Amino acid sequence: MKPLLSDYTLEQLQALLAALGEKPFRARQLFEGIQQGKDWDELTNVGKALKDKLSAEYDCQGVKIVQKLVSKDGTCKYLFALRDGNIIEGVVMRYHYGNTICISTQVGCRMNCGFCASGIDGLVRNLSAGEMLGEVVAANRDLEGDIKKRAITNVVLMGSGEPMDNYDNVSLFLRLLMAPEGLNISLRNVSLSTCGLVSGVDRLIADKLWVTLTFSLHAPNDRIRSGLMPVNKAHPIAEVMAAAKRYFEASGRRVVFEYTLIKGQNDSDQCALELAQLVRGFPTHVNLIVLNYVKEKGLQATARERAKEFLQILEKNGVSATIRRTMGADIEGACGQLRRKYIGN
Ligand code: SAH
Repeated sequence: MKPLLSDYTLEQLQALLAALGEKPFRARQLFEGIQQGKDWDELTNVGKALKDKLSAEYDCQGVKIVQKLVSKDGTCKYLFALRDGNIIEGVVMRYHYGNTICISTQVGCRMNCGFCASGIDGLVRNLSAGEMLGEVVAANRDLEGDIKKRAITNVVLMGSGEPMDNYDNVSLFLRLLMAPEGLNISLRNVSLSTCGLVSGVDRLIADKLWVTLTFSLHAPNDRIRSGLMPVNKAHPIAEVMAAAKRYFEASGRRVVFEYTLIKGQNDSDQCALELAQLVRGFPTHVNLIVLNYVKEKGLQATARERAKEFLQILEKNGVSATIRRTMGADIEGACGQLRRKYIGN
C-alpha cells in the first residue's frame, strides 16, 4: 500500500515537498485540498508535473463513501471503504447549532463489551489518523461543506473502536483536525469517549489535548461493571474515576459519563443511588442512553418510563444528567450494526 498523504501534518508535507525541490506554498495547497476531500484528479491547484510525481508514490484520500442512508430526522449514516477493502461506519447527526459526525477509530474493537456490536469479531486493525480525518472530510464534502464553510462543526469519537487503544493515531488525528489551514475544528467541539484505558487519559493530559472527555461507565460498582465490560478487570471503577478527576483538574473541563440502561442489569434504584454517589464532588454530567438492542448480545433495553425514573433519582441527588435522544432509529440500530449488516453478518 502507498503511504497516505492525509496522514501528514502540514509541516511534514512541507518537508516532503522541500526534498523534491518544491516551494512551501505547494504543501499548503495540497494540505488544503486534502482537507477539502479532494483526490488527485480534483487537485487542480497542485500543478500537473508535481501531481504526476506524487500520485505515482502516494495516495491522498484514505476513505470513500460506499453507502449513505438518510433518516427522517436528517441523520445520515455513511459506510466508508478503506483502501484495503475494510468497511467502517460514521454517522452525522443534525442539531440546531451545527452537524456532528460520530467517527470510528478502529475496524472492529478488542474491548468486547457485553452490549456492543463493534467488538463481536474482535479488532481487525487500527485506523490511521488520515483515515479518521477522511471520514470527516468525506462527510463534510458530501454535505456540501468546505474548509471555509464547514458542514461538519463537531466531531465525536464514539463510533467503532476504542480511541485509547489507538492513541498515537488518534492524537495525530486531533492535531490534523484542528490545523488552522484545514478544517480548523477546535477541540472544544470534539468529544472523545473511552471505556477507561486510563493510560490514554494521562497521555491526553501530557499532550494538553483538551477535548470533552467521556467515560463509558455503564455501572456504579465493579461487580456489575466487570460483568458488562471486561476492561473493568484491568481498570476498575476507582482507577477510572481517579483518571476522570485528573483530567478535570488539568483541563478545567467537565467530564461526561455515559451510562447505557440495560433492563435488570444496571437500572435499579440502588444503581441510581450508587451512581449519584460516584459522580458527585467534581463537575460531571451523566448521559443516560437506553440500550440499542443487539441481537447477538441478548440484553434488553430499559423501558422509557423506567429510564425517566432513573434520571429523576440522579437529579434528586444533585447529579446533572440527561437521557440521550435516539436519532436515526429508522435507518439502523446500534453502533457497529450497519457495518455488520453490510459485510454480511
Ligand atoms: N470505545 C469507546 C467509544 C465507542 S462506543 C467507549 O467505550 O466509550 C460509544 C458509546 O456507545 C459507548 O458509551 C458505548 O458503551 C456505547 N454503546 C455501545 N453499544 C451500545 C448499545 N448497543 N446501546 C447503547 N450504547 C452502546
